[in-house]
Amino acid sequence: MRTALGRALDREAEKLLACIHCGLCVSACPTYLQLGDENDSPRGRLYLMRAAAEGRLPMTSRALAHHIDLCLGCRACETVCPSGVRYGRLLEAVRADLSRAGATPGLWSVRFLLNHIFTSPTRLHWFFAPARWLRRRAFVRRWAKGKFLPARARLALELLLATTPEEMSPGDERRIIPLAASGRRARRVAFFAGCVARELFAHTNRATMDVLAAHDCEVEDPPDQVCCGALHAHAGEIETARALARRNIRAFERSAAEAIVVNVAGCGAMLKEYGELLADDAEYAERARAFAARVRDVSEYLLEIGLRPGPRPLNLTVTYDAPCHLYHAQRVRTAPLEMIRRLPGLTVVPLTEAEMCCGSAGIYNLRHPGLADQLLERKIAHLRRTGADVLLTGNAGCLMHLRRGVQRAGLSMRVLHPIELLALTYA
Ligand code: SF4
Ligand code: SF4
Repeated sequence: MRTALGRALDREAEKLLACIHCGLCVSACPTYLQLGDENDSPRGRLYLMRAAAEGRLPMTSRALAHHIDLCLGCRACETVCPSGVRYGRLLEAVRADLSRAGATPGLWSVRFLLNHIFTSPTRLHWFFAPARWLRRRAFVRRWAKGKFLPARARLALELLLATTPEEMSPGDERRIIPLAASGRRARRVAFFAGCVARELFAHTNRATMDVLAAHDCEVEDPPDQVCCGALHAHAGEIETARALARRNIRAFERSAAEAIVVNVAGCGAMLKEYGELLADDAEYAERARAFAARVRDVSEYLLEIGLRPGPRPLNLTVTYDAPCHLYHAQRVRTAPLEMIRRLPGLTVVPLTEAEMCCGSAGIYNLRHPGLADQLLERKIAHLRRTGADVLLTGNAGCLMHLRRGVQRAGLSMRVLHPIELLALTYA
């Protein structure tokens, strides 16, 4: 039987043959920069994939599984590749084959969660209920700082605490009410609420819907929507990702909204790639392409329809870290910064290596905490030099990881989604 990787390589054959081994991807790759091993670079991983697809390396090879597992999936290699090698497609394909071959040990608990909890909004809601209760408890902060829990449990608690809404000043969270709306409902948009985002970042979702309403949008929240499937695709659970994609397509086809607006970079990248995910599905291929064509990151959409920030000057110095799945995967590069620059009273300062992965990468920071923390420390060193009051980033996972890093480093910097700051201009 032809493997997923074999099929993906066939599709990319022309571009792979055009690889000029220039090494541009190598020096852009965070795992190579940290580890210095060619096998942990895009070029090295492509060699390994090709060897596996051609039968020169068994799919059960530990070296193959190890080096593929260490990849962040950040897709910085795609941005710099002059031949247009679509590394992300190949990565998902090889991970699906490795999963099928049982070559990714230690992932059974992750697979259980992905296939049985993240597929059901009801089960997911109950799964996160204790987390929502715990993050407000003072004793959890003590547990996260103490030494009696295992390191991985403390890390999980720190990340959970980093989902707590941050207020710029007391009461801000309650005062995010759009005053700019004219009362007309000129446009209809459907909001993609996400899975972790719906459960742990309800405040960001609410701010997004408020901002859209302030732009005279009637905002729908289609009731049957589910997780986008990005975590599944990245973990090799490609069939579950496809099943989720079909459910989302059906849920949003019922809406006549002109756009599907999303505020999480990782979800947006996945939704925009449904056409490729379901390319071989006769019933869904065309519907998936039509769905993907409607998807917009919230920054993209607001600029398209004409951004109208509120009048309240924020008087802050801010910097911006580009989420990989917005910058490299969706190629949405200027819209978030353009949106931030137009907010009243902000001074925007550049961040060195803003386009380099922070180490969050879905659940990478939980699976490979050592390497994820090295990348985080690199980012914190750059952040320290900005002197910014606020760090902005448009992806839930990056926000948790960076906020944890900022808090551990003792910086007084706040970490927010750009849309939360925009919402404050109406308060
Ligand atoms: S950047 Fe592209 S062309 Fe250059 S080595 Fe990497 S894959 Fe090959
Ligand atoms: S996706 Fe990121 S970590 Fe993986 S090979 Fe490409 S640049 Fe390196």
